[in-house]
Amino acid sequence: MPLSPPALATRLKAVAWRWLAGLWLAGACATACAGDAVAVAPSHPPRVLVLLSYHPGFGWEDRILSGLTEWGGATSDRPVFHVEWMDAKRYPDAGQRERLTRYMTGKYAGQRFDLIATVDDDALAFVVAQAGLFGDTPVVFSGINAAPERIVGTRANVTGILERFDLTRTLDTALVLHPRTRRLLFITPDSDNGAAMRDTIDAALARLPGHPAAEHWPTPRLDQLAPRLPRVPEGTLVFTLGSIPVRDGELPLEPELVPAYVRARTALPVYSDLDMAVGHGAVGGYLNSGLETGRLQAAMARRILAGEPASAIPLVHETPLALLFDVAELRRLGVDARRLPDGSTLVNAPPSIFAREYRTQLFFIVVVVLLLVLVVAVLMVRGFMQAARQRALHHQATHDELTGLHNRSGLAGLLHALPQPGGDGEQVALVMLGLNRFKLVNDTHGHAFGDRVLVAVAERLRQRCGAQQALVRFSGDAFVVMARVQGEDDLARLRGLCDALFQEPFVINGRRIPITAAFGMSTAPLQGLAAERLLREADAAMYEAKRNRSTAVVAFDSAIHERAARQFQIEASLPEAIARGEIEVYYQPIHDVRRDCIAGFEALARWRHPDLGWIPPPEFVQAAVETGHVGALTQRILRSACEAFLPHLDAPCEPYLAVNVSVSDIYASDFPAQLAQTLSEAGMPPRRLVLEVTEDMLLGDQQHVAAALEQLHRQGVRIAIDDFGTGYSSMGYLSHYQVNLIKIDQSFVRRILDSAPDRKIVRAIVSMAGDLELGVVVEGVETAEQIELLRGLGCELLQGYAFSRPRPAAEWAAGAQAGCGMLP
Ligand code: C2E
Ligand code: CA
Ligand code: CA
Repeated sequence: MPLSPPALATRLKAVAWRWLAGLWLAGACATACAGDAVAVAPSHPPRVLVLLSYHPGFGWEDRILSGLTEWGGATSDRPVFHVEWMDAKRYPDAGQRERLTRYMTGKYAGQRFDLIATVDDDALAFVVAQAGLFGDTPVVFSGINAAPERIVGTRANVTGILERFDLTRTLDTALVLHPRTRRLLFITPDSDNGAAMRDTIDAALARLPGHPAAEHWPTPRLDQLAPRLPRVPEGTLVFTLGSIPVRDGELPLEPELVPAYVRARTALPVYSDLDMAVGHGAVGGYLNSGLETGRLQAAMARRILAGEPASAIPLVHETPLALLFDVAELRRLGVDARRLPDGSTLVNAPPSIFAREYRTQLFFIVVVVLLLVLVVAVLMVRGFMQAARQRALHHQATHDELTGLHNRSGLAGLLHALPQPGGDGEQVALVMLGLNRFKLVNDTHGHAFGDRVLVAVAERLRQRCGAQQALVRFSGDAFVVMARVQGEDDLARLRGLCDALFQEPFVINGRRIPITAAFGMSTAPLQGLAAERLLREADAAMYEAKRNRSTAVVAFDSAIHERAARQFQIEASLPEAIARGEIEVYYQPIHDVRRDCIAGFEALARWRHPDLGWIPPPEFVQAAVETGHVGALTQRILRSACEAFLPHLDAPCEPYLAVNVSVSDIYASDFPAQLAQTLSEAGMPPRRLVLEVTEDMLLGDQQHVAAALEQLHRQGVRIAIDDFGTGYSSMGYLSHYQVNLIKIDQSFVRRILDSAPDRKIVRAIVSMAGDLELGVVVEGVETAEQIELLRGLGCELLQGYAFSRPRPAAEWAAGAQAGCGMLP
């Protein structure tokens, strides 16, 4: 048959190619022969021919190629891959083989490969057949089903992976996952290949004694199956293996697509032997893995390129497996994923940020979120702690630690924060409450006891006052009750509350402690409140109450204001007055009417204030007590009085010197020592000194008083009880203390001429004092009648204007030596 010009050209080209190939083969042969004698150094990078039997897109081979070209070795050793596809599935004819030979010879003539990797039978057979083209270049194959010798023959330098699999483990696992299975159905190609598969299946079943009934469906075409599949009964597991055409004359479906076909026609679990079938309808199992096969093939290739002869690398007899499951299928079938074998890989999982591929991102997101949460938490905790600390600090700053009440600055805050007036006439009332003689409680019972008293008072206030009253510990022994009042009724209620506050005594450490307080009250309209002034006024009113020894609430008024101003002035100038010796000593004699001589002199303090003029001693002595200067005042007076007394030491009547001391002097622990020092410095013999103390002294701790008096007694100093009969007079105590004299208070003398009871009292005192061997002085004697009467009552020592007013101490020095009768 004559040939057309293009056909002729093609024919000529083919002939030319054959010649060329012949030439190249001769050359290659020569090279190969030479290679026997001389070791050929591998090229760098190595050149690897990958020859695949089928076509791109054939999943199984695609996967092997991926695994292979993944390579896995060092990047520097990574070869150059020359990938060729034989397309033998679609074109199994010999012509294709020929065309390929021509193509390969044309393309690779004169080139040398360091290694050939083949996939599936056709590729290996081709390489073995093309000895001229490939010489004995080492070969690593994969995908060979039958015995390799059948293809390899005597070809040396060949190793590889056989495509054999064991269905036992997949079967076993499937039966665990579907415990209610009653039947196993195996769909395989109705071909030689399929027969080999059925053998493999039967072998696996033989290894599973007691397995459910098994049935083979050798299938020439899938469309024959289609009507039967929906009728397969429940409890059947369907296995599909191998590639089967859908219709007659069509190419077989790729093996991973057969399960998809079956699965589309049945709701039963479908199993396969191929990893790629997972995701196409197969449930999963221990599956032949193209990817793992490629990887293993690459590993073997690496060994060969590293210098190991291929013959030294043993054949791998089983296809590498992947343990895969399709999550969607498992869910659909209601399989408990926890029963999957360990190490299972899940595919087809619904998109989840917990998926492996997102692990790094997830990790970072989690870390970032945790860090943010941590930062927020730290900030919040810090904020809370700061707020708590601030609250604690604020509480500490505005509250009294001991009683838990507001403190002075807390009160300022309360006054400042008072809400605007609700109606006309709304007022704020402050009651300042000062405990009486609290210093004495502290001095006699100790500070811890004093603290307990304060706590008890605070508790009493809390109990009696309502929520509408704010309670404040204003200073050591002063409390404030702040209330909003509307009219006189409210004020009266507040007064009543104050009056009742200390009616019940306090019991502390089992002791009944009578506590009283002075109450001063001030009020101001809420509108335009001057908090400072309000406080000052309550304070002044409270001092007024103290001065008057009033237990009722004293309301602030203008008189108090003036007195407070005067008090303030006195207190302010007192310390300097003491230090500068502005306070002078006057003497008033005590007359012995029996012997008619001066039995002693009482030293009385006198202070002429530059602005206020003469200030009564009780006023500035009280101011000294309140401001803590009484100790200095006493020492000052003592010194001056003693110094002025020196001329009287040798007086014939041996007069004594009486000096007034306040109760707190007696309680001061250093008083005896200071007294001793002052006396010795002034040159005053202690036995000539009498200290006059009021009965108030006995209100404190009696043991303490007894000890103090005992100490003074040991020093040789005598004690007189001043203003006897006005306070907690009890003759009884006199026998318990070191007391030498009692001074009957002026008030008795004032009434003595008219009052028979007073006369009786004086007589009784004199009589009892005689029994107790105490001296008695009567003070405030102003008239001759009084003198007569008192003499008649047995009183011998008299003091008063009837004899002399107090006069500057120095004025008495002149008459000192004149003797007893020497009266001014
Ligand atoms: P006191 O110790 O009872 O002193 C007697 C007071 O009675 C003195 O008042 C004196 O001047 C006054 N007086 C004396 N004779 C008569 C009289 O016949 N009729 C009247 N109506 N009064 C008379 P003075 O000096 O004003 O002292 C008052 C109080 O001040 C004293 O009462 C004493 O408690 C206290 N005091 C005076 N000087 C001192 C002192 O140096 N230290 C201390 N701690 N207290 C002193
Ligand atoms: Ca006195
Ligand atoms: Ca007196």
